[in-house]
Amino acid sequence: MELSHRITHINGGGSDGWDVFYRARRMVADGVDVAELTIGEHDIRTHPDILDAMHAAAKSGHTGYAMVPGTAALRETVAARIEARTGVPTTAANIMITPGGQSALYAAHIAVCDPGDTAVFIDPYYATYPGTIRGAGAIPKSIVTSPDTAFQPTADALMAATKGATSLMVNTPNNPTGVVYSTDTLEAIADTCQDNDLWLISDEVYDTQIWEGAHISPRSLPHMAERTLVVGSMSKSHAMTGSRIGWVCAPGYVVQQLINLATHTTYGVAGFVQDAADFALNQGDAVEEEVAAPFRRRRALTLAALAGQNVVRAVPAQGAMYVMLDIRATGMSGDEFANALLDQELIAVMPGESFGHAAAGHVRVAMTIADDRYVDALKRLISFASAKASQ
Ligand code: PMP
Repeated sequence: MELSHRITHINGGGSDGWDVFYRARRMVADGVDVAELTIGEHDIRTHPDILDAMHAAAKSGHTGYAMVPGTAALRETVAARIEARTGVPTTAANIMITPGGQSALYAAHIAVCDPGDTAVFIDPYYATYPGTIRGAGAIPKSIVTSPDTAFQPTADALMAATKGATSLMVNTPNNPTGVVYSTDTLEAIADTCQDNDLWLISDEVYDTQIWEGAHISPRSLPHMAERTLVVGSMSKSHAMTGSRIGWVCAPGYVVQQLINLATHTTYGVAGFVQDAADFALNQGDAVEEEVAAPFRRRRALTLAALAGQNVVRAVPAQGAMYVMLDIRATGMSGDEFANALLDQELIAVMPGESFGHAAAGHVRVAMTIADDRYVDALKRLISFASAKASQ
């Protein structure tokens, strides 16, 4: 029996770029002590108070079908949070709660792209982006950025690549690079969307992980709220990756259509998870800072470990739980480096090539293990790279 082209081509026929990750997981399952610096998952779990709220909500009966767009309380809380942080007037009517940011990214593309439309995104990119676009029936097109501009897209590249396209997806703070887009970049994005009449899909799931400067939501730039769909999530901000809870923030008429889509796909999100999310968001910024703190600390440890040598360079980054390391001085590709590092040092990092073309010769390090093990792994990575560079 033949399956649909749509589903069999989600990966575009190639590898999904996760080979090193799966290999490391198999080694761990076989009892090998691997330092896993691969995926964006905290080394802490969801706070017990949030779990208590979840339990209490379930016990009190919130286990039936929840409202498809999300509970009124959570939609209002999310809207208030966005308005407070961006200054853009936002109400519950602008919010649809989704089972995680990933499903929000998919819903956003379904909402704005017809089959065959071109949906643009920035390379390097979060691994699911092209597949999400293909799954929605649109045609992915990337803007390949350069390490020389810290992987931020230039105004010229944005304008040229999006002529005739329907949507542009951006992600700041960025996975995999950790870069927070500058005001100039955000203004170029806004100008491009207006000049080329694009929808903007703004993935802001790392908005609480900022180590320098500030997170600016492109929806807050002049005339952008009417053409922007913001994707948010509690996965990273509250260490709730497994609870699958996020949202889309968009103009009200877009949300109406997204609700129709949700009725026919997810049928909403578990009510007790939504109540826990509402509880968590109402605990204030300190809780989010607590969840972000280990990455802030490890980012400083990273810069200290890299000081005094030139073989491994960090891409200047201001946010997110990752550092992107330039290992081109070794003469190896990111893929070769990551595989050899796993075999010889039992350290798993993601090859830059897993995130597109732009980050070739780089590896992404997720700062997701305890500080002492993290620093040890990083030092061994640097020694390994230095040995390769002098061969
Ligand atoms: N966007 C980016 C850039 C991500 O890194 C992730 C998760 N790693 C997501 C979206 C999706 O996150 P979730 O579905 O857990 O909310």
